[in-house]
Amino acid sequence: MHFREAFIRMFLRPFSTFAAIVLCALPGGISAQTADWRTPAEISGYRTTPDYAGTVSYLDRIAAANPVQVKIENFGKTGEGRDLKIVIASKDGIFDPEAIHASGRAILLVQNSIHAGEMDGKDACLALLRDITITKTKAALLDHVVFVFIPVYNIDGHERRSAYNRINQNGPELAGWRGNASNLNLNRDYMKADTPETRAFLKMFHRWLPDFFVDDHVTDGADYQYDVTFTIDDTPDVAPATAKWIRESVTPELERQVNASGHLAFPTYITLNDDTDPAQGLAFNPDPPRFSTGQMILEDRPGMLVELHMLKDYKTRVTGNYEILRALLEVMNRDAAKLIALNREADADAAKLGAHPLGNEKFPLAIDGNGETTPVVFHGYQFTRALSEISGAMWIQYSHAPWNVTLPLATGAKVTASTNPPAAYIVPPQWTHVIDLLPAHDVAMRSTTALLTGKAERYHCSGMQWQGPPFEGRHPIFAGENAGAQPGRYGQCTLATETLTFPAGSVVVELNQRLSKVAIQWLEPGAPDSSLGWGFFDSIFEQKEYGEAYVLEKLARENMAKDPALKAEFEHRIQSDPRFAASPEARLEFFYERSPWFLENRVGEYPVGRLLSLDGLPLE
Ligand SMILES: [Zn+2]
Repeated sequence: MHFREAFIRMFLRPFSTFAAIVLCALPGGISAQTADWRTPAEISGYRTTPDYAGTVSYLDRIAAANPVQVKIENFGKTGEGRDLKIVIASKDGIFDPEAIHASGRAILLVQNSIHAGEMDGKDACLALLRDITITKTKAALLDHVVFVFIPVYNIDGHERRSAYNRINQNGPELAGWRGNASNLNLNRDYMKADTPETRAFLKMFHRWLPDFFVDDHVTDGADYQYDVTFTIDDTPDVAPATAKWIRESVTPELERQVNASGHLAFPTYITLNDDTDPAQGLAFNPDPPRFSTGQMILEDRPGMLVELHMLKDYKTRVTGNYEILRALLEVMNRDAAKLIALNREADADAAKLGAHPLGNEKFPLAIDGNGETTPVVFHGYQFTRALSEISGAMWIQYSHAPWNVTLPLATGAKVTASTNPPAAYIVPPQWTHVIDLLPAHDVAMRSTTALLTGKAERYHCSGMQWQGPPFEGRHPIFAGENAGAQPGRYGQCTLATETLTFPAGSVVVELNQRLSKVAIQWLEPGAPDSSLGWGFFDSIFEQKEYGEAYVLEKLARENMAKDPALKAEFEHRIQSDPRFAASPEARLEFFYERSPWFLENRVGEYPVGRLLSLDGLPLE
């Protein structure tokens, strides 16, 4: 037997013998009479999680037993052709999103297994659905809320089951894979939408337009006492009234309820400032639009990241995930009318973003910590640190003895990039991959019917560095994960007003719509997940014409004779820059770059225009 396999079996065996004892303490208080409604994970004593067929089969049983309240719908296909499903629980059999919105009930959408090795939320949702619609111990959770969930989002990854997919995680026996069938991380794909899963998600999301969104995960990172950690974004890019409600009425109540259920919650996803020293405090986590919860900021819907702790046993994690979802449903029932009103107000505000293109109102493109911290009581584990002769770096070893201390938590946020939104963007028609993203996100756009020449703003970009190793199948102009020796780096883009010409068929995206924030984040080059950042405009940085050396020799001599300042600049450069002085190509290129021939290469001219008015535009 392979050493690793022996180790894992040894690790898992106690949970199966534990199974018989835990059944009486399941959420919902399942008694022996209803034991046949145990979920597959419960039947195994939380030793295993069902595959997709087993998951769907349990859900089909529930839907067949209570067809009035439960419906299962397909919303698209994965890369390998599996059916993506949502499960809808509605108290009175209304399953049509528009009719639900008209009824004044709030809609919760819970997404599970986007990282398919992290399937706690799936097994929690099966138990919660049963308790709401079969045993009815939680039936009241549907009074003012419709509960919608994706049992498994990354199904192809979920079916790539192995005991070796999650080295940091304590069970179940077999877990799925983090990436989809193309090895792309769906939780980096929301903005760029490279995958069929994201494209299907966006269509489903806009059909349902839920009032609250949850993304269930399992942590990586440090060890500590908490089993349930969660973040609901309330940063400066979230609608202020919604952020206030989250900060004052939702986050503290979820923490209180989860703790009251016997679990231990921390109301922020925990990342350490120093992975080998928890005493250095807890870091700030920005949430750009590549993440599901970052996408929710653009959609103006509260988004909650739930992260169960990887080293807690599977029963603790599934029941902890159950409790935070139950608590959220209670909060949403309590505040359904308020939540719906907040969302309606935020939608109306988003549709006004292009209304004052000449004003000074700044739209936040990127958020980061501002260095402010808040002291928090932290329930960690005691640890020792030592210099490792294996890694040559500091090595942390956690004990399971409590370490209850006050630590600084990075709570202050600042806007690190912003823009004055124009009235509309105009994208020339040849940029098909950039344009294609807009309808994928359901951003409304119109085409021009004739050649257009007029004043518009346009960026000139320079100083970009592309990441060496790929990140999500691309080489971005930002430091993605897996940066390796050469991280990407965004240089700068400077705005200028110019007379520009756009061909007929150019696409005009007005910012008078609910999804204006998606358009801004995609088309402003300085946004953290912009089309430029992900490499959709790489070809604008390519110099296509070059001067032959013997032609440039002549050009250099002629231009220095005409322009003593140019000659002085060249000679100073030779004196001051040894690398330049040593490169015959750079010395000749110096003269090409300062000539009209180079300007015609238009290197770094960002082709998207910013329109301050739509007056006189030939639009279809
Ligand atoms: Zn995850």
